[in-house]
Amino acid sequence: MSFKIPKNLRIPGPTPCPDYVLEAMGQGMINHRGPEFQDMIHRTTEGLKSIFQTSNDVFILTASGTGAMEAAVVNTLSPGDTVLSVSIGVFGDRLGQIAETYGANVIKFTTTWGTAADPNDVKKVLDDNPNIKAVIVTHNETSTGVTNDMAAISKVVKDADKLLLVDAISSLSSLPFYTDEWGCDVVMSGSQKGYMVPPGLAFISVSERAWEASKEATMPRFYWDFGRAKSYLERGQTPWTPAVSIFYALDVALQGMFKEGMENVFQRHIDLANKTRAGVKSLGLKLFADETHASNTVTAIDVPEGVNGGDLAKRMQSDHDVVLGGGQGSLTGKIFRIGHLGYVYEEDISLVLSALEDVLPKIGFNG
Ligand SMILES: *Cc1c(COP(=O)(O)O)cnc(C)c1O
Repeated sequence: MSFKIPKNLRIPGPTPCPDYVLEAMGQGMINHRGPEFQDMIHRTTEGLKSIFQTSNDVFILTASGTGAMEAAVVNTLSPGDTVLSVSIGVFGDRLGQIAETYGANVIKFTTTWGTAADPNDVKKVLDDNPNIKAVIVTHNETSTGVTNDMAAISKVVKDADKLLLVDAISSLSSLPFYTDEWGCDVVMSGSQKGYMVPPGLAFISVSERAWEASKEATMPRFYWDFGRAKSYLERGQTPWTPAVSIFYALDVALQGMFKEGMENVFQRHIDLANKTRAGVKSLGLKLFADETHASNTVTAIDVPEGVNGGDLAKRMQSDHDVVLGGGQGSLTGKIFRIGHLGYVYEEDISLVLSALEDVLPKIGFNG
């Protein structure tokens, strides 16, 4: 390759992978309809169920996270269904767009970006629109660095007796998530965020209620069809050729996480997020997200006045081998983001903070 792999890839996905995960992917191919794959898919599916904290069905799709988002929509809804989209950023908007693309009647609920959705406001919209069939919501909005209070939001949705589809793509495996306790009917996640695995696999859980909905749902589906996924999983297979190499990676990465212990994984993410937020504030920078709902997997920071966000990213990489995330959508150039999810430890964050301290004054910051 003609480029260098950065030492400190601090974007919120794809995230760095440990050597043992990368090495696992170097193994040769196996028959994806043979006994070795059968063992591996059963083992990884069970592992994911424990991370999702669910006894619902869990399927592993060969796709990026957006594939799981599309699967959630097309398997449970029909054109003309009224859907409440609770969006607090770019990824929430995307889920609403998918529902709209397939013909759902989408009611858009949003907040000022950088803040979380207030469960009482969601309740009001539900009360005012009794025809709503399903609620789609993002647990952790990666574009703004905000985590919604899923315990409270899911309670409101379940009290109103609606179907609940949750994008937990950048939170599951890094933040505690209680699929069954919260009554989440479909939950989506993706390999390249907190799992220490390259992009290529998406994960999705399906409740009994979601199965009921899927029987009535008439949106077109083929690649994403839950029914096909279930009947193949019973034989230890996927309907279509899976990304076998990424399965190898997932298999060992899950073992790595369980060896560390999920409670320790969660605590590490809390500690690193606290360190990141305290560190950037002490440099005189301003957090973009409302701190009471700031994410423990990604920190969004205002690009300070007098500084060009593009210059900041360039100098961080050229001078310190640190790759930062930029702003997305209308936040382009206005914020930058530090990903701290997956395979990340204290010294990685210390290096980012000292690199910022070095670079910022050189590009016009005098905070
Ligand atoms: C990364 C991400 C997605 C999916 O993006 P892909 O590029 O398709 O993997 C969706 N929602 C959130 C919150 C994400 O962070």
